[in-house]
Amino acid sequence: MSKIYMDHSATTPVDPDVAEVMMSTLTSSFGNPSSIHGYGNEARKTVEEARKKVAALIGANSEEIVFTSGGTEADNMAIIGTALSYQGRGRHIITSQIEHHAVLDTFKYLEKQGYEATYLPVNRLGQVDINHVNKAIREDTILVSIMHANNEIGTMQAIEEIGEITREKGIVFHTDAVQSVGRIPVNVKSLNVDLLSLSAHKFYGPKGIGALYIRSGIKPAPLLHGGGQERNWRSGTENVPGIVGMGKAAEMSLELMPQRSLHLRELGHYLTRRIIQEIPHAYLTGHPEDRLPGHVSLVFLGVEGASMLIFLDSEGIAVSGGSACTSNSFDPSHVLTALGLTKEAAHSSLRVTVGKDNTYADINQLMAVLPGIIERQRLMWNLVN
Ligand code: PLP
Repeated sequence: MSKIYMDHSATTPVDPDVAEVMMSTLTSSFGNPSSIHGYGNEARKTVEEARKKVAALIGANSEEIVFTSGGTEADNMAIIGTALSYQGRGRHIITSQIEHHAVLDTFKYLEKQGYEATYLPVNRLGQVDINHVNKAIREDTILVSIMHANNEIGTMQAIEEIGEITREKGIVFHTDAVQSVGRIPVNVKSLNVDLLSLSAHKFYGPKGIGALYIRSGIKPAPLLHGGGQERNWRSGTENVPGIVGMGKAAEMSLELMPQRSLHLRELGHYLTRRIIQEIPHAYLTGHPEDRLPGHVSLVFLGVEGASMLIFLDSEGIAVSGGSACTSNSFDPSHVLTALGLTKEAAHSSLRVTVGKDNTYADINQLMAVLPGIIERQRLMWNLVN
């Protein structure tokens, strides 16, 4: 049985070219970038080359890039770092109800430390209303953190417009762009952001490496203290192979962005069209147009999401039911309930996220089995109820 992977919002396979540069870094460029000898110099050079490539992917200057252990750490650093640094001005922070847990749980943590948080609602398509942002801002607001694209429903937010408001009011603006960077063009300048999180494993790089963009002049407090690496932003000996892999993945993403984005968009549209036409009582969640290309999130009424996953997996097809990070929880997704979906509908969700190597044949194979799985599940449901 041939296997099909269509869960690219959870993670992407490491590109063979990325793996190759990582392997040669592991074996031949093993020096510590802080060492003052040839080995150290060589490692430092490779780190700085990678930094330039990551900066180029998001339109930043390389001094504005700090490598982290991934998206989660970048989000924590942006939010806790800003809260610590700017608490003299106030202790009010704003985010949305549909953020990834790396943001939401960090906000909850700060609430326990005496900060006051506002969680903005979204409409049925998953978008934050700019007027709500404007109204929520107070004299003592120091941070707004709104994600660029949602991991569960693919909906994009009006980051540029929110950034105009925060820039005018002098409030630090962070966006979690873990899902969008590498998949669509992202430019920190046109987005008007001060801080932006990204993660290599979402664009064919390795896991355990990410970055935080810190706009020149913005000063979140560091979370890790020690040897003063990353110009004191983040202490700890650098993950050189990870950084080099992230650099290569960033370079390839930038170069291949137009073809890849178009390919994902076409496959996503094809799959959505077929599902809506061929499977009764199925609908798309999230925004129909303002969404990540190739991100198809659905509800199939009367079918348990988890059982769909298991049956598809037994057919060799890997997809997801909402966010990978929360798929071991029995609570309905906080994102889907924030859209106004009932608990039952939220439990009937499926997320198919295609990647650069998927083909029309993969979609056809999924559509050869999915309608039957759903029909059988609905029949069983009717029999037991
Ligand atoms: N933010 C979003 C929107 C994500 O989708 C994820 C991972 O799924 C993260 C943050 C966490 O990133 P990482 O896995 O690199 O820690």
